[in-house]
Parts: sequence; structure tokens; C-alpha cells
Amino acid sequence: MFDKNVLHYQTKTDEVLNEVLSVDVYPNKKLAELLKDNPIIFYYTEQDTTDAAMASIFQNGKRRPVMLLDRGLLRGDNKELLVGIMCHELGHWIDFSGRPENYFGREKLWQECFADMVGYKMAKNAGYDMSFAVEKRKIMAKEQRAYCKAENKPLPEKTIFEKRAELLEQAFGNDETSKSNMVVINRLSGLKKER
Ligand SMILES: [Zn+2]
Repeated sequence: MFDKNVLHYQTKTDEVLNEVLSVDVYPNKKLAELLKDNPIIFYYTEQDTTDAAMASIFQNGKRRPVMLLDRGLLRGDNKELLVGIMCHELGHWIDFSGRPENYFGREKLWQECFADMVGYKMAKNAGYDMSFAVEKRKIMAKEQRAYCKAENKPLPEKTIFEKRAELLEQAFGNDETSKSNMVVINRLSGLKKER
């Protein structure tokens, strides 16, 4: 059956996207250029969870970006979370260096960190408070640790979520001077070499 709410979800995601694209500085400007000839398609999954909502971005056969978003995320009223998640995924699109069609795999650490940084910056540029972002990753890291402990699964000394939280905190935690941003960009290029 056609879900009438989809129109409402489309309005919500379009609104966020327009706010992000209307800012005329990097990285928002870069995204606007990329989307000019290939407008984004949103698709809302049946997943109803709000606390563990997921999103993903991939390229369809016509090279258009397709963003999948759990309906739970659209149903909730946490706009900052929606903006944060959308901007992270859009950050992946900016770094779209050859991800194959129908790609659903896991990203490399540096790609996740890149999407975190660029996404955070885009959301801030659009006037959103993203101060929850570091804490959110720390909570995800704790949940992952608890899950792996319960399931007897091994985990590295520092998990990807923990590294992502650390990098984001270094970049935007105290101040947002270009100096602290540069430290992170340098560390990102280090991660890039490791892959
Ligand atoms: Zn990601």
C-alpha cells in the first residue's frame, strides 16, 4: 500500500538538502556542483527504529546518488540527528572516488572519518548545532563493545567508532580554528596511506 507519509518524508529531506546546498562555501558549494547535473534520489526504507536509524548512499546505473534513510529517522522529531546523518552520507558523496554501483559494503576508516568531517562542516555551515556528534559516536562505540563482549567477539584495542569520535573531537571539540582542522586533515591523509 502506498505510504502517504512518504510525501512528508520527501519534504523533510528536501528541506535539509536545500539548506545545506544554499551555503556558498566549501564543502557545501562543492556538493552543490556535484549534484547540479545528478540530483539526489531519496529512498525511505521500511525500518522503523528511531534510536538506531541507518542511512547509506550509493550510485545508481545512471550515476545518480541514491540515499537510503530509515523511516524511523524521518518519523522522529530530532532534526539535528537527521541533518547529521544526511550530511555524513553527503560527505561520502563528495569523496565518491570510484565506489562501484550497488555498493553496500563497509567503508574504510579514512572514508568514514572524511565523511564525518565534511558532514559536520556542512551541517555547521548550514547553521546546525552538531555538538552531539562526538558523544553519539562514543555511545555507539560503547554499545559495540557491550555487544561484542556479550557475543564473545574480539575487538581491537581502539575501534573504528572510537577513532572516529577522537578525530571529530580533535577537529571540532574545542575550537574550530583552521589549525585544529589541519591536524585532522593531516591525520586523515595518514589513514589514507594505510588502507
Ligand atoms: Zn559512512
